[in-house]
Amino acid sequence: MQRPVLRHPSSLFAPILTGCVYFVVASLALMMSRFEGGLAFLWGSNAFLMAQLLTSRTRAWPQAIIACGIASGLATSLFGMGPLAAVPMAAINILESLIVAILCRRFVPDRQVTGSTRPLAVFIIVLCGIANVAAAAVAAMVAANLTPVSFGASWLQWYTGHVLGGLTFTPILILFLQGELGKWLRDSRPRVQLEAVALLALFAAITVHVFCFSHYPLLFVPLLPLVLISFRLGQMGAAAAIIILAGIGGAATMSGFGPLTMLPGSTGVRTQFFQFYVALSFLLCMPVAAALNGRRRLFGMLQDSEARYRAIAEHSGDVVLDISVDGTIQYASPSATEQIGCAPELLVGQSVANLVDPQDRATVIATHRRALLQPGLTHKVEFRPLASASDLDWCEMVSRAMVNERSQPCGVVSTIRDMSRHKARQRALQQVAARDSLTGADSRRAFLDKLDSEMVRARQGVKSSLLLIDIDHFKQVNDRFGHGAGDHVLTAFVERLRPGLRGGDSIGRLGGEEFAILLGDSDIDQASMVCERLRQALVAPIALADDAGGKAIRVTFSAGLVQLDGSSTRSVMLEAADKALYRAKHSGRNCMRLAA
Ligand code: GH3
Ligand code: MG
Ligand code: MG
Repeated sequence: MQRPVLRHPSSLFAPILTGCVYFVVASLALMMSRFEGGLAFLWGSNAFLMAQLLTSRTRAWPQAIIACGIASGLATSLFGMGPLAAVPMAAINILESLIVAILCRRFVPDRQVTGSTRPLAVFIIVLCGIANVAAAAVAAMVAANLTPVSFGASWLQWYTGHVLGGLTFTPILILFLQGELGKWLRDSRPRVQLEAVALLALFAAITVHVFCFSHYPLLFVPLLPLVLISFRLGQMGAAAAIIILAGIGGAATMSGFGPLTMLPGSTGVRTQFFQFYVALSFLLCMPVAAALNGRRRLFGMLQDSEARYRAIAEHSGDVVLDISVDGTIQYASPSATEQIGCAPELLVGQSVANLVDPQDRATVIATHRRALLQPGLTHKVEFRPLASASDLDWCEMVSRAMVNERSQPCGVVSTIRDMSRHKARQRALQQVAARDSLTGADSRRAFLDKLDSEMVRARQGVKSSLLLIDIDHFKQVNDRFGHGAGDHVLTAFVERLRPGLRGGDSIGRLGGEEFAILLGDSDIDQASMVCERLRQALVAPIALADDAGGKAIRVTFSAGLVQLDGSSTRSVMLEAADKALYRAKHSGRNCMRLAA
């Protein structure tokens, strides 16, 4: 709820004006309503001071209080109980207004006294309770000392006059001082303004009829249009209607017209009755208007927020889905057409699983369930969309559950993003990482992964072998022909070996001029034969590049061979092959040794 900006009158004339208004209202009340010669029966000036205090900053309070205190004292001296009562009556008036203003400020944190039900209730309780019960007692003591009116009668006169005056006029004056009238005129459409004028004119006509022409006591009749006005026009309309009622009814009653003249008793008693009537009318319509106002504001905020989130969903590049607890799509954003090749209206009512390739359905459904079980967390899943839905390869779905007012999950909001390019890039990177860039053999990492898989097969009884080979005296190649020629020889070496291997065999470069060959489904004898075949493939010299003068060089390798033992580990197998290779080197090179 927006906090109202409090006024801070900076002009020197502001307190003078406040004092003058207070003086005029107080003087009129004293002149017209001291029916029994004691306190006034009507009292609206404190309503004005309370509205002033509640709508201005605390810093501005002293000026207003001093101005109204002087005005109260002057009015009492001139038209009330005389100069002797001036100071105490001014003090009590100020005290009453201050108690109301301080307690309302204390218990209504957003300072909005009108506009919603709770602050209005605080104001009514404070005004009718502590502030006036105490103030009326002190004022009645003063009046009982200075006038013939009894303490009890004076207490009642003060209490009714001040409570009813405050109830009726303070909220209305607050609305005006906060500029609500101007805001309403600016913000409401002409049709609404016309309706307001028509309803208030009707209300005025009914009030005039009830108070000036009717021969029957039809006091309940204005209540019907009053409630209608509260519903249709809100608190500004209700405030205007109360002013019309108080103005027309008050003038008629005090001039001896209307249904209240039927009451036995003095004008004072009738005036008190009329004040009760106006205050009850106020209590009938203002809380209704305040509650409606609160709802209207809430509805406006909801509409704004709905529009904001709809705009976000509708302009998002990702597909936004609202999915029910059972997995049915309730809403799909327009980007669904572009991203997953399906119009949003066709998606609504379908199960989200229908968007997913059968291979990934279980994972997507599990993620949806996990999101519902852990509503505070975000859950991600990558899936392949159904081939017919689009030409995408991969999508990522990010899901988060929504909870209702009882904190129970009531659905899931998911965003779907195209991951095809990301996945393709990832695959390309994996391929690059799996190949040795110079020779095209498997990288060390990729070869060791394959060896791991083969160890699993060996555990199942498959006979496979690992051959570790190292080029003999390769350093001399570099030394004699240069590093470039060495590189060329390494590449040619692998090319020479490849034709001697079967499709399922793998060759990997473990480092430098050391290679490893994995021979699937080959026992030690078959692997030895393959090794011999490879050696034969290298008998013919390898031609060096043209810049080496057309020379060719013969290379040989030494090898260590081990048959994979399913009960052992990868590193033990590599170590065994390495030891056999070491022995081959020490046996004069260009030969193969079996692991012990
Ligand atoms: P041995 O018969 O004992 O294996 O002798 P060797 O000379 O092959 O062994 P050594 O470990 O002493 O030398 C290996 C050489 O391989 C050293 C290094 O310069 C060379 N080498 C390692 N990687 C590369 C490469 O990528 N390109 C080239 N051109 N040479 C490499
Ligand atoms: Mg070597
Ligand atoms: Mg070496």
